[in-house]
Amino acid sequence: MNRSITARYLMLGVLLLMLGISGCISVPNSGVVPDAREGVLDLQGLDQEQLNLVPLAGQWEFYWQRLYTSPDFKSGQLEASYIDVPANWNKQLVGGRILPGQGYGTYRLVVHTDESSGSLEALYIPVINTAYKMWVDGELIAANGTVGTSKETMVPQNMPQIVLFNASSQEIEIIVQVSNFMNITGGMGHSITLGEVNAVYNVVNREEALQHFMLGIALIMGFYHLLLYLLRKQEKANLYFSLMCLLFSIRTLFVGTMIFMRWFPNFNWQLATRIEYFTWIMGVLAFLAFLYHLYPEKVDKRVVKLVNLVGFGFGMLIIMLPAIYFSSINIVFQLLFLALAIYALVLLLQPVLFKNTDTRLVVMGLLLLVIAVITDVFFLENNLQREVWVAAGLIVLVFSNSMALSVRYTEAFESSQNLMLERDIMVETMKKMNQDLETKVKLRTAELKNSVEKLNQEIKERTAAQEQLKVFASTDIMTGLYNRATGLAMLEKHLQLAERNAYMVTVCFIDIDNLKEVNDKHGHMVGDQLIITSSHIIKNNVRESDFVFRMGGDEFVAVFPQCSQQEAKLIWKRIIEKFDENNDMAALGIKISISYGLAEFTPGSGTKMSELIDKADAAMYQHKISRSNSGN
Ligand code: GH3
Ligand code: MG
Repeated sequence: MNRSITARYLMLGVLLLMLGISGCISVPNSGVVPDAREGVLDLQGLDQEQLNLVPLAGQWEFYWQRLYTSPDFKSGQLEASYIDVPANWNKQLVGGRILPGQGYGTYRLVVHTDESSGSLEALYIPVINTAYKMWVDGELIAANGTVGTSKETMVPQNMPQIVLFNASSQEIEIIVQVSNFMNITGGMGHSITLGEVNAVYNVVNREEALQHFMLGIALIMGFYHLLLYLLRKQEKANLYFSLMCLLFSIRTLFVGTMIFMRWFPNFNWQLATRIEYFTWIMGVLAFLAFLYHLYPEKVDKRVVKLVNLVGFGFGMLIIMLPAIYFSSINIVFQLLFLALAIYALVLLLQPVLFKNTDTRLVVMGLLLLVIAVITDVFFLENNLQREVWVAAGLIVLVFSNSMALSVRYTEAFESSQNLMLERDIMVETMKKMNQDLETKVKLRTAELKNSVEKLNQEIKERTAAQEQLKVFASTDIMTGLYNRATGLAMLEKHLQLAERNAYMVTVCFIDIDNLKEVNDKHGHMVGDQLIITSSHIIKNNVRESDFVFRMGGDEFVAVFPQCSQQEAKLIWKRIIEKFDENNDMAALGIKISISYGLAEFTPGSGTKMSELIDKADAAMYQHKISRSNSGN
């Protein structure tokens, strides 16, 4: 919404600029001023306003290959031919022959006025190709360069000027000698303007002011965009646009009122012409490069390459060849420029591009320039201000292009602002997300720590339970000795070790005497106590390396590794003594006694565990029998 309004204002701005420039360059037309006929311009009967500015156009007398002065015409002997002015003499039919571009000749015009003698008049003399000498009423009043009859004898110069003279009578004789051996075109291409002093100065000043104005705009635009480019080198469009402007501003110095030549009147004509052509061609190349960087996807690279090739080719020719050659092929380059401009227009008028304000602006500028160039090349051959047209087209292009760049910048700035906004929102969101994440991580870490602790606790508990289970599984709960399964497994292991390491093991089978009777007399609790006490006495009196297990009921097995039956007997003697000394259950009238039997394992004997136990059991039984028989 906003942008389209801005765009409309910009368009309006360009239109006003175009109008303004066209207003400036329009030739003030004060009504019908007659053309000269057969070397005579009759201004009699015209009013003062019409006489303010009179282009000396029409048929002038012309003498090809002759350089005459006023006295030569006094005799009345010379046979006059006529030539159209303003127009280059090339290709004009004069005296029955078509003239070439190079050569020399004398122009003559007689002006009839109503003015009384003595009035001050002004003549505006534009560029005449390429040297001239001018007399009014026999008096030399102006010259550019040196007129000569050959390339060697003449010196070219292009410097428009205003000259003042006093009309001595109602008949004014104007004689202009012109020579050209330097340019492709020769003669009076532009019309000399006769008029009232102030009026002539006004129109020339206006033209000059316009050129200074354009020079200023081009310089400012050029340096401004050069600065923009230096600040942001990625933006190549700025560089080429600035080059275009600067080239254009240089060119402005060498066309129209020839500002540069006024500063340096003796500046080399060839060099000045080279600069004029060279800056024009390089400007076109810069414009294409600008267009290419503005729409990199749209402009065909091959077109850029081709135009650059042709352009730089011309550029080299302009630097190396005399003006006569490159001015003759300039039309080729102008046609190439037109083709290029039409290509650019077709490109920019694509709906995809044309919908953009910047493109529309470039199109408007380009269109005006194309119209200006077409007018310059095909229609305005003889206009007083022909170069100004092209300059005006260029300045509008410069202006619209710089506005196009500004629109681009504004859009880029807006989108970058949006991006910044988006970025801020993203940063905010990310911060919040980070905070959430931190909280979550903290929570999870705590949970994890907790569960690890729980797990450790559980592992501890389980290990303890397992240990307990192990104890329960391997222990006889009542006595705290190994149970039968564990005891037998240990015995088996010891027997294997003994076999391998060649040592003896003695096994002892034990049975408590008269338990049944205790049970019957005192109850099972006392019977249990008897079992427990007996087991402790045995356990406490064997060696560290020995072990004892409960076989079942009131039966125990004691195992003595690395111990012969003989040595075991000694141990048992001691144990029996301990039983004898024991009085734990004396209060109940119970005397604890046991029976035992020994069996010896000899490595290499091949005795099995069960045989060994049976053998000990049998020995125990014998022991019990023998004792009961003896009454003990
Ligand atoms: P002996 O002198 O011939 O060994 O006779 P005894 O009474 O000790 O009888 P025996 O050894 O043949 O039998 C063991 C008895 O021990 C059988 C059972 O009543 C009793 N007994 C077995 N286990 C337990 C137990 O755990 N507690 C109690 N109080 N008595 C048990
Ligand atoms: Mg018993």
